[in-house]
Amino acid sequence: MFKNEPFTDFAVAANRQKFQGELDALDSKIKGGGLSASPVVAGKELSGASTYERIDPATDNVVVGRTKLATIADADQAVQSLLTGFPRWRATPFQERARIIRAAGDEMARRKFELNALIVRESGKPWGEADGDTAEAIDFCRYYADEMLRLGPPQKMGEIPGEDNRYFYEPRGIGVIISPWNFPLAIACGMTTAALVSGNCAILKPAQQTSLIAARLAEILYAAGVPQDVLAFLPGSGSAVGNHLVNHPAVDYICFTGSKEVGLQIINKASVVLPGQRNVKRVVAEMGGKNAIIVDSDADLDEVIKGVIQSAFGFAGQKCSACSRLVVVGDAYEPLLERLRHAAGDIIVGNPSESGTFLPPVIDKGAQGKIMEYVQYGQQNHKALFQGQVPKAGCFVPASIFRDVPTSSRLWKEEIFGPVLACTQARDFDEAIKLANDSEYALTGGVFSRSPKNLEKAREEFRVGNLYINRKCTGALVYRQPFGGSRMSGVGSKAGGPDYLIQFMEPRTVTENTMRRGFAPA
Ligand code: NAP
Ligand code: MG
Repeated sequence: MFKNEPFTDFAVAANRQKFQGELDALDSKIKGGGLSASPVVAGKELSGASTYERIDPATDNVVVGRTKLATIADADQAVQSLLTGFPRWRATPFQERARIIRAAGDEMARRKFELNALIVRESGKPWGEADGDTAEAIDFCRYYADEMLRLGPPQKMGEIPGEDNRYFYEPRGIGVIISPWNFPLAIACGMTTAALVSGNCAILKPAQQTSLIAARLAEILYAAGVPQDVLAFLPGSGSAVGNHLVNHPAVDYICFTGSKEVGLQIINKASVVLPGQRNVKRVVAEMGGKNAIIVDSDADLDEVIKGVIQSAFGFAGQKCSACSRLVVVGDAYEPLLERLRHAAGDIIVGNPSESGTFLPPVIDKGAQGKIMEYVQYGQQNHKALFQGQVPKAGCFVPASIFRDVPTSSRLWKEEIFGPVLACTQARDFDEAIKLANDSEYALTGGVFSRSPKNLEKAREEFRVGNLYINRKCTGALVYRQPFGGSRMSGVGSKAGGPDYLIQFMEPRTVTENTMRRGFAPA
């Protein structure tokens, strides 16, 4: 059975000291001029056109590193390089591809603290969240390697004398992986390794904000044995090189995780067949969420508080799975809100490089401004239950909870992607399910209840991709909780699940009449 990479126990003093050492080492590199990343095509670093400066989001001006952004010409060069590499990679035995991807995961496990430290500084994730990100990346490598071994051998179909039928999978071709910043290592790694292990060539276009950790990923994949003309690393602007690759006639598949707006645009553009294009482009697009947790009137409130605080405010609410709507049944509403208000007051806000921090800054100034607009909208239109405090410097947004939020509110409908929670009361459990389902998204959901009848109802009628019962609605594990949504949360099967790799492959059937009368001489 598949075993997940264990999380680091930071309650152990030796682990804390070791990780602090990594953070200090990284900080002295940052002080000495910072880190850098460049596009890599056919094994060569390219100089790009412009430079993206990544500011540590816990500060106003500390440059973590600089990334050279790829040009359109670089993107075209990457496509040409992969076209050369594809036939050889496709012909490479699947066992060998699986070995290489597994080796990349093992290398990440060895360098876990170094990777965690970079995630902390570049994306603003607190220690435990960064450690979870790396663990998930490792899991993706190992799980998809296992999956390729399962799917690789041709299957014999039927048992008819005189006929042999073989069903097997082939890679789709060359494609582009467009990743978000919020799981900067895990999601970039999962999408890329799934494509590679199944025999495709891939261009990795990471989110600009987290290009440095993505560059480490590319480096590890090359070192593990992924050929230089099979993977290209192309940090750059989504609307420039990302868009160019989506529209490129030689691109066979696009694997995207990010916002609904960009995802829908990609699906639209990919449907246009251009001169010289051989394949209908396959799009896998994992998009946003507006996830609800239902609290039944008989729920264990101790558990609810813990689960809601973690789901709504962990990594400042910047998870596609985060809880942003809380629906409470009947009389539980007032006592729960009272306790939630107190619990929110205990949240530790600060620099993610400090081990105790729970609520870190958001990703950048742009996100901070957008989320603050929602907070102000809430203050103007709804009753605030809780409004936190944050440091002045850096991209912090205070934890904000609003009560009695109607379904017409922007706080109810729109993905905010920040530490903002909208609460509402439901008459009974049926109404709670109706309210929870009242969203264009269907990614995650949670239910806290002690009623078997209501839990059964939630299993059947609370239609989200990942439903969590009596626990937080974030933190899906590879293999144990295959992850992904439906409706406007995405098209594609679940990441870290048994149907994922098949999306990157094309099945073929070969039938032979075996009633032959000898072979022709060679
Ligand atoms: P985003 O703004 O949509 O960006 C995602 C990626 O798309 C980035 O690499 C971005 O490049 C690129 N991009 C932007 N415009 C593009 C275009 N016109 N053509 C091609 N690529 C383009 O999302 P984000 O802010 O990074 O991430 C947050 C979003 O991701 C949230 O909506 C969240 O719910 C979603 N998410 C979903 C899942 C899931 O599994 N369903 C998981 C994680 C996150 P730039 O760097 O240049 O912007
Ligand atoms: Mg973006």
